Amino acid sequence: MIAKVIVDVPAKQTNRAFDYGVPDEWASWIEVGSRVGVPFGPRIIQGFVVALQEYSDVDPKKLRMVAQMLDLVPPLTPELVELSRWMSHKYMCHEIIALQAMIPGALKAKYERMLSAASEFTHSEVTAEELAIMDYVVQKGQVEFSALTEYFAGNELVIKGLIRRGLLNERQTVKDRMQPKKRQTVFPPSDLGAIASYMEQIPLRSKRQKDVLAFFDLNPEPIPMSELTERLQISSGTVKSLADKGWITIGDVEMMRDPYEGKSFTRTQPLDLTEEQQKVFEPIVASLESLERQIYLLHGVTGSGKTEIYLQSIQHCLEMGRDAIVLVPEIALTPQMVDRFKGRFGELVAVLHSRLSQGERYDEWRKIQRKQVRVVIGARSAVFAPLTEIGLIIIDEEHESSYKQEESPKYHARDVAAERALYHGAVVILGSATPSIESYYSSVQDNDRIKLLTMEYRVEGRPLPAVEIVDMREELKNGNRSMFSRQLYDGIEQRLARKEQMVLLLNRRGYATFVLCRSCGYTAACPHCEIKLTYHQRAEMLRCHYCGYAEKQQLVCPTCGSEHIRHFGTGTQKVEEELVKLFPGIRVIRMDVDTTNEKGAHEKWLNMFRDRQADVLLGTQMVAKGLDFPDVTLVGVIAADSVLNLPDFRSVEKTFQLLTQVAGRAGRHQLPGEVFIQTYNPEHYSMLNAQQHDYRTFYHTEIHYRKQLAYPPYSHITLITLAHEQIPILVQAGEAIVRSIRENWRSWALKNDLETTLNRHLEHYLEILGPVSSPIARLKDRYRYQCVVKYRGELPVADWLRKAMEAVAEQVEKNKMLISVDVDPQSMM
Ligand code: ADP
Ligand code: ZN
Ligand code: ZN
Repeated sequence: MIAKVIVDVPAKQTNRAFDYGVPDEWASWIEVGSRVGVPFGPRIIQGFVVALQEYSDVDPKKLRMVAQMLDLVPPLTPELVELSRWMSHKYMCHEIIALQAMIPGALKAKYERMLSAASEFTHSEVTAEELAIMDYVVQKGQVEFSALTEYFAGNELVIKGLIRRGLLNERQTVKDRMQPKKRQTVFPPSDLGAIASYMEQIPLRSKRQKDVLAFFDLNPEPIPMSELTERLQISSGTVKSLADKGWITIGDVEMMRDPYEGKSFTRTQPLDLTEEQQKVFEPIVASLESLERQIYLLHGVTGSGKTEIYLQSIQHCLEMGRDAIVLVPEIALTPQMVDRFKGRFGELVAVLHSRLSQGERYDEWRKIQRKQVRVVIGARSAVFAPLTEIGLIIIDEEHESSYKQEESPKYHARDVAAERALYHGAVVILGSATPSIESYYSSVQDNDRIKLLTMEYRVEGRPLPAVEIVDMREELKNGNRSMFSRQLYDGIEQRLARKEQMVLLLNRRGYATFVLCRSCGYTAACPHCEIKLTYHQRAEMLRCHYCGYAEKQQLVCPTCGSEHIRHFGTGTQKVEEELVKLFPGIRVIRMDVDTTNEKGAHEKWLNMFRDRQADVLLGTQMVAKGLDFPDVTLVGVIAADSVLNLPDFRSVEKTFQLLTQVAGRAGRHQLPGEVFIQTYNPEHYSMLNAQQHDYRTFYHTEIHYRKQLAYPPYSHITLITLAHEQIPILVQAGEAIVRSIRENWRSWALKNDLETTLNRHLEHYLEILGPVSSPIARLKDRYRYQCVVKYRGELPVADWLRKAMEAVAEQVEKNKMLISVDVDPQSMM
């Protein structure tokens, strides 16, 4: 039998499957999706089996054999292997990169170099120093290279010399980064009927042994050793002596780390759906029953009861014997969200998010793989959950840009979900109060491909909160130079008096403080990146958010020596300071990247806020989503414009989405809410439409601009970014790429006789911008250049891009240039 294997080397030459022979003893359990160790050059490396067949074109004398089987059960399914092929094509990445993205970090290969002594070595061959090393290895049998160099510190060269001379043999093996956690477990006698006779055989003085047998007589179940000894107040020696007699057995049992251990979830029952909910639920059920892929866009205002629709759709799906995946944005994956799913489906739910430890993540994943759970809720990468019978995939807050992965593979979870649903004949629900312009456009254009479902009202007729737009230019005119407008100030004061809670939002961390010299205009920037440094007050440091570079705060300007160098701008810390100064005694919880990177911090802050240990929850956009606090009656957005001015065609859309989400946070319960949006662009449609909670009007205005400027959804965009220390090398490669695409485009157009049509209808249109310097012009000491390919119609642009990459492949490799291709980029920076 021959296994076709994709190996763990992301390079052009290895981006294909290699043939390996399968040893007979493994033939029955090797499968498509198995993880194997295979010889590659002088090493053993990890690979994935992507096909099995009877024959190979490789010369049998040269055919090498699979060296290791790494799992009992393959970590990937044939469907996921097929999906990786699709991803590699669509997102132009190596197949191994796509495969690696589908498995948990614990299964990424770790390579170990094992050393053993050559059988025939004589003492005369080695020095005394070397002999000590050899003796040590002989005694151990096998030693890991790094362990040996650590033990004989300072002798690495000597050890390498021994390897080179063949006195030490080196063998590389593949290991997992993480082992399943095991627990010593005691198993009851296999013949329970014999317990009575065992008891009789035990001498009187061994009363404790009798206790153990009596215990199993009542509870004939395996039990962890620690629990048994604890309950009976005995030592493990007592249990072992029974095991020595062969009456009971002790063994290791794999156990699952449970991140929610000890936490109980209140069981909830399906609610009676409102009329509006019923109307959207019915078609979803019909589609689930049809077993054919159908994508729905569920557009429902905040609080319209979308989550209840998700829950009942999942329930229906489970009743049909099929499984479900729920994706939520990482920052919305709050304990509250998890509670709602665990509360309805209990043990059937696995949760995957980045705040789990690697071990916890691995075990949640293994529960999925072993079919112990049927509902997977998680952030982006949970879309790869190895379920085999998927009936439903839900993407909540589908407009969120975090569904697009920024590193390779640069996939969008929405597209991957649609592809998986096609394979499984599953239903996809894209839910949002503010759908992405792209999704909404698709549903308008082609209501068969994406069906639109709408919920316009909040459950139980709760009103949407009143939103007031505050013109900060007026404030300035009236002599108010504070970061709080008069209205917001009064609002805060009132809430404090009434003991109600508030959420204050500072849009995005990019708005944090920077350092400026008032005398000469110098601003502190990262020496490695073309990025302004951000001032962190607690540490009195300036930091680069891209590469991590940090320096002490300067007291005098490094260019002109002036002492008028200060930090400016509004960071969350600054707002906090200001609040404390203006409202003595105010209790503020600040949530931003600095206060939430510790594990569990997120949850801790939110719980404190819920327990009313603070008046204000202040933060970046992570406070805007998914939160549902009954006592919040005021929401303030300090600077609504900060995203609006970014050089990105989605910045208006992002602003509208954020403001609408935020506005939906207030007054979700009995107390009515009030929202203040502070802005310098009070007439902007993103502000006005968010104020009215009017998605449709916003959509029509925005889509009009997209059309005029031929931005998505009226075009496709692919962004190519090149990075290198020297600009001329970048320009040269960038131009070669552009030239290659142009040539292919021209010859294709000629062949298809499109030249004339093109000019007349612009149905098929292609535009290449660049090579030009990227908005972030330098990162980690490398300059960055980009080319933007914008096109419309069914053009084989992916093929042309592939050819263009081939055209520069040699140049890229020789110069060690970094090159990235981003299909449908979410950020143009
Ligand atoms: P969304 O996800 O659209 O923002 P939620 O699902 O969070 O809305 O619903 C808002 C609130 O309304 C929640 O407290 C939820 O429990 C409640 N709710 C949802 N559906 C119903 C229903 N059919 N009957 C009563 N309450 C409901
Ligand atoms: Zn200066
Ligand atoms: Zn930097």
